[in-house]
Amino acid sequence: MIKIDTALIMIVLLVLGISIVSYLVMYRKENKKCIQAELQQKSTMYILLGAPGAGKGTLSERCIELLSFKHLSTGNLFRHHIDTNTAIGQKVKELIKAGSLVSDDIVVDMVREELAAVVANSAQQSLFLDGFPRTVEQAKILLAMIKEPVFSNLDVKAVHLWLPSIDIVVDRLTSRLVCSNKDCQATYSIKDLNDVEKAAMICKKCGGKLIKRSDDEVDAIRKRLEIYQQAEKEIIEQFALANIPIIRLDASGKAEDIYQNFVQQIGMTK
Ligand code: AMP
Repeated sequence: MIKIDTALIMIVLLVLGISIVSYLVMYRKENKKCIQAELQQKSTMYILLGAPGAGKGTLSERCIELLSFKHLSTGNLFRHHIDTNTAIGQKVKELIKAGSLVSDDIVVDMVREELAAVVANSAQQSLFLDGFPRTVEQAKILLAMIKEPVFSNLDVKAVHLWLPSIDIVVDRLTSRLVCSNKDCQATYSIKDLNDVEKAAMICKKCGGKLIKRSDDEVDAIRKRLEIYQQAEKEIIEQFALANIPIIRLDASGKAEDIYQNFVQQIGMTK
């Protein structure tokens, strides 16, 4: 009788043990699947920081072309609004021409709307946020915004293109040409064009007309730099306080070197 009881207990314990082990194996598999699914949904947003002319647009162009990044640039969005004569375009036209900042309410609404659209349509894709934040207030607004549920799938990092001297930027910007095609907006330096290209002033990518931006005049450039430099330090402090990882890139070198430094730091190989 005792022998039968012991055998029964052992069988029950064995069945119980097998059940627990199978349950744990299944639970781990399911849990792994959930984590993988969540990771696959995540997009990384890189907030681009750097003075006007530090090379944010050029780095973005390369990453769009070679790494399929998305690009959300407040400057490009405003220029698009101006070209298409929207209500926003009419409000910001003169401010932009003078090199002044557009008010926070207009910028913030526009960024929230555009960012939500990009996130909804491009899961898993990395994107650059370029031109925002430009002030410490905008940095605080952005840090609060990314906590909203609609942006919960965003992994956020900052990329700081730093320059040892502002003379590099003044020189770059006074030589800058931009494609006037609103869907292209590729940038060139007049110094890189030969005489035939200078006479034609045609974009190599889309055939659009190359123009000088109305705010790329020396006075407007210096004004933009003054405004920007005051803010940059405080913005970086806010990001550090919020534990946003910051990737630092020396922006005084060649565009290709800056790009290679970036891909290496984010662990990509192209
Ligand atoms: P960008 O192409 O980034 O140099 O921007 C061109 C112009 O758009 C700036 O000089 C500002 O007038 C306006 N702008 C762009 N982003 C912002 C922003 N975050 N806050 C205020 N104004 C902005």
